[in-house]
Amino acid sequence: MSEHFDLVVIGGGSGGMATARRAASYGKKVALIERGRLGGTCVNIGCVPKKVMWHAAEFASHAAHAADYGFATGVPEHDWTKLVDNRETYIQRLNGIYARNLDKDAVEFVAGDARFAGERRIAVGERELEADHVVIATGGKPHWPDVPGAALGTDSDGFFQWRERPNSVAIVGSGYIACELAGVLNGLGADVKLLLRKEHVLKNFDAMLGDTLIERMREAGIDVQMNRQTAELSEAGEQVQVDFEDGDSITVDKLIWAIGRLPNTDNLDLESLGLETAANGTIPVDEWQDTAIDGVHALGDVTGQAELTPVAIAAGRRLSDRLFGGQPDRRLDYHNIPTVVFTHPPIGSVGLSEADARAEYGDAAVKIYTSHYVALYHGVLEHKVPSDMKLVCVGDDEKVVGAHVIGDGADEMLQGFGVAVKMGATKADFDNTVAIHPTSAEEFVTMT
Ligand code: FAD
Ligand code: NDP
Repeated sequence: MSEHFDLVVIGGGSGGMATARRAASYGKKVALIERGRLGGTCVNIGCVPKKVMWHAAEFASHAAHAADYGFATGVPEHDWTKLVDNRETYIQRLNGIYARNLDKDAVEFVAGDARFAGERRIAVGERELEADHVVIATGGKPHWPDVPGAALGTDSDGFFQWRERPNSVAIVGSGYIACELAGVLNGLGADVKLLLRKEHVLKNFDAMLGDTLIERMREAGIDVQMNRQTAELSEAGEQVQVDFEDGDSITVDKLIWAIGRLPNTDNLDLESLGLETAANGTIPVDEWQDTAIDGVHALGDVTGQAELTPVAIAAGRRLSDRLFGGQPDRRLDYHNIPTVVFTHPPIGSVGLSEADARAEYGDAAVKIYTSHYVALYHGVLEHKVPSDMKLVCVGDDEKVVGAHVIGDGADEMLQGFGVAVKMGATKADFDNTVAIHPTSAEEFVTMT
C-alpha cells in the first residue's frame, strides 16, 4: 500500500531541504528522503568544512604578518586534529538543527536510499511513497579519472576525513576545489603541488582572475605545474608515485583528484519512469525546473546548473512557491549569479568575463576598467600582496555587466555589488556612490 504526499523530495541537501520546508510552509504534506547526513554536500563535505579550513589558513597568514604589526609571535604550531574535531562538532550541531527544522515544519523525514518505482512513485526500503510532485535533488559526487592506480589518490570527500595533515600533497585539477584545497593545505604548512593539465586555472572565470591567482599561489609557495597529464599512480612505500605522460614523475604523501563532479542519478531507476539523462548524467530541466515527466522536477547539482548552494536553495524555494504557493511566475533567473572562490587571496565574480562580453556585444561596445592596488592592511607589511579588480561595461551608458576581484576581502565584498549588477547599474551609478574609506571595496566605485 503506498502512502500519498503532496510532495516527495529525494535528497536532504541544500536544494531538497529548501524545497521541502517551503512547500510545508504552505500547509502541504511533504516527505523528504535522505540516505546520508542531513545538509548534504554543503554542510558535511563541502562549503562548511571547507570554509572552516579556509579560516584556519587565513589565520596562519595573519599570524605570519603579526610581527610587522608589532606582535612578538611567529606562526604557532598547528594542531590539525583539533581543528578537524572542532569542525566536525560544529557540523554535527548543524545536522541536529536541520533535523529539528524538518520536525518543526512537519516535513516527514525518511531515512534511506530512494529509487523510482514508477511515475511519481518512490521506493525506500519497504516503503512506497506516492506524490503529486516529486523533486529530485540528489546532488553529485567527485569525478575520478580512468588512469591506472587512480584509487591510490583520494577526492575532496577523502580530504575531509584526514585526521592528520600530510607533509606533501599533489592536487590534480584547476577548478574551484583544486584551487581552494591548494590554498588551505599550503596555508596550513603542507608542501603543495597543483597539477594543471593545461596552462590555466578557473577557466570559466575572467582570465585576469586565474592568471593573477596563479601568480599569487606561486608567491605563497604553491608549486603550480602546467601541462601535467597524469598517466598512472603507483605505491612508493607509504607514498604515492605520480607518473606523467611525458615520462616525468613525482612522489607525494597524498594525491587529491579535483577534476569536476558527476550527478547522482545512477541509482534512481530513472528508466522506470522513462526519464532520460543528458550525456553527462545530469537531469535536463526547463526554466521551471520541470523534467520531461509531468510532476517530476529536478534542481541543484543533479541538473548541472551553476553548482552552488544558494542556487539550489533559490531554485527549490521558487519551485515550491510556484507549485504550492499560488505564485505561477516564480522561477530562478540564472543570470548574474555572484560567486566566490575561497582561495588565498579570495576571488569574487559576478556577470560576464571580459572575453564573454566581447563575444556577446562586440569589441567596440565593451569598455574595461581595472584597478591594481595594495590594500591598506598590507601597507605596513614587509611582503605586500596586491589586489586586482575589473569592471566590464557595455554600451553608451556603460552598463556594468561584469565585476571581478581578487584580493583580501573579495569574499565579503561581492554580495552588494552583485545586487548592483543584477539591478542593471551603470558605471555612472558606481561613480555616483560615495566611497567607504579606507576599504578595498571603495576601489569598485573609484575606477577611472
Ligand atoms: P547535495 O547538497 O549534494 O544534496 C544531495 C543529497 O541527496 C545528499 O545528501 C545525498 O546523500 C542525497 N541523495 C543522493 N541520492 C539519493 C538517493 N537515491 N536517495 C536518498 N538520498 C539521496 N557551493 C557554494 O555555494 N559555496 C561553497 O563554498 C561551496 N564549496 C564547496 C566545496 C566542496 C568541497 C564541494 C564538493 C562543493 C562545494 N559547493 C559550494 C557546492 C555545493 O556544496 C553544492 O552546490 C550544493 O551542496 C548542491 O546542493 P544539492 O541540494 O543540489 O545537492
Ligand atoms: P570545476 O568544474 O570547478 O573544475 C574542474 C576542472 O578540472 C575542469 O574545469 C578542468 O579544467 C579540470 N579537469 C577536468 N578533467 C581533468 C583531468 N582529467 N585532469 C586534470 N584536470 C582536469 O570542478 P570542481 O570539482 O573543482 O568543483 C565542482 C563544482 O562545485 C564547481 O564547479 C562549483 O560549482 C562547486 N564548488 C563551489 C565552490 C564555491 O562556491 N566556492 C567551491 C567548491 C566547489 P581544464 O579543462 O581547464 O583543465
